[in-house]
Amino acid sequence: MKKVYIETLGCQMNKSDTEKMLGMLDFLGYEEIRELKDKDSADLLIINTCSIRQLSEDKAFSRIGTWGKWKKSRPELKVAFCGCVAQKTGAAVFKRMPFVDLVMGTHNINELPDLIKRIEAGEKVCAAGEIPLPEKNIELKRAKSVNAWITITEGCDNFCTYCIVPYTRGRERSRSPETIIKEAKEALAQGFKEITLLGQNVDSYGKVNGKWKMVNGEVEGKGKREKGKGEIFDKEKIKSCHCEESCLQNDAAIQKENPSLLTAHCSLSSLLLKLNALDGDFRIRFTTSYPTDITDELIDTVIACDKVCECLHIPMQSGSSEILKKMNRRYDRETYFKIVKKIREKVPDVTITSDFIAGFPSENEKQFEETLTAMQELELDYSNTAAYSPREQTVAAKWEELFLSDEVKEDRLKRLNEQNKANCLASNNKYIGRELEVLIDNFENHKGKNILTGRTRNNKIVHIPHGKNLVGKFINVKITGAKTWYLKGELRRLEG
Ligand code: SF4
Repeated sequence: MKKVYIETLGCQMNKSDTEKMLGMLDFLGYEEIRELKDKDSADLLIINTCSIRQLSEDKAFSRIGTWGKWKKSRPELKVAFCGCVAQKTGAAVFKRMPFVDLVMGTHNINELPDLIKRIEAGEKVCAAGEIPLPEKNIELKRAKSVNAWITITEGCDNFCTYCIVPYTRGRERSRSPETIIKEAKEALAQGFKEITLLGQNVDSYGKVNGKWKMVNGEVEGKGKREKGKGEIFDKEKIKSCHCEESCLQNDAAIQKENPSLLTAHCSLSSLLLKLNALDGDFRIRFTTSYPTDITDELIDTVIACDKVCECLHIPMQSGSSEILKKMNRRYDRETYFKIVKKIREKVPDVTITSDFIAGFPSENEKQFEETLTAMQELELDYSNTAAYSPREQTVAAKWEELFLSDEVKEDRLKRLNEQNKANCLASNNKYIGRELEVLIDNFENHKGKNILTGRTRNNKIVHIPHGKNLVGKFINVKITGAKTWYLKGELRRLEG
């Protein structure tokens, strides 16, 4: 059997693409190896790249330098350069790394089998087209875990001025509910205990060109959804969600207009209802949310669906309304505060996490301090932080005269991280003494002690000393202590 090694850089979307590639490569007779020792370890080497920051992009090229040396003494070894940097750089990759056989962008992933056959036949191929190619029905090779990631939207239409995603992942499109439900059923049948719906902007699932394309009238009417009013769904209504049929029919007109746009006929709320109705003991999560796309209907659905977990990742990016405007985010500080307040009031025990950028072009000290106070006043449970990194093609990258020095950006990032740590510890301290349900995802020996690690419904990491491997089990845990990044707990009783 031929062997393939894939190095995956960047976000969860890339990891999900790697699982897709492994499924297709399995079909071609390739077996995955997880460790790359030398030039003879594999027949095909793939790097799945990330371009979110300049550092990630540089890493992509530096990682494969050794592969080029290996290829000199083993010319039959094939090297593929894939993902966001490939999409952005295209055939220019060959100039920089002449030993590369295949450059494949994010839009061409579905033609991987044909591309591999061509490089196996000795061709050098670049496939980094503008238009995403339609999906093929290929089984994924999921990484071993309790959580299965399922992509529901790809690309993004928001064009935040700092972000390269719309250029590397393309315009936003939703995968059909039919495909998503099928993948969820397969993952549950394989023993996964958690489904995480993935997308750059999951709340706009089902929209085409910014509009709800079709509504399933059984549970909620079109008018209600469009006004974002929503209603509290009770368990009976969830069971009687009959929208599947209308959700699953094809919208031929849209397909004809642009075959790359999948016609998703339901909103994220409707999708959650459908997934929640699937049999089995499992959890559902979704990420990432765009603040102003979170509707009342979605919040009510989170409350009503027993399998949907109480945690939302809602990037704020800056606490300053002026900077948010320059970032082309469609909300201001006050609006974000209102959204968080509403969610906290309605969803018991919810955790809200966020992303922030330190040192966006032109950001002054006062504006930066507004970010610090936002983080603090909103009591965010955790935040991803990064210093601003200009990305080619984006609007903000052209504002060179407004760039801040590396020293200022690093200093602000450090202060952001200190606030983040304080928030995390304060958030974790609230759980001491409580009993929480934890899904175990790891078991290892740490300094002579066997430790179980898992997550609560609201995504808090918990470490529990215990001698038995309980990976994949839901257990009840008494929280006995809190550290910055995790909780400590004691096993109470097994749920089955
Ligand atoms: Fe990028 Fe903005 Fe889209 Fe998020 S919402 S992927 S930051 S363009």
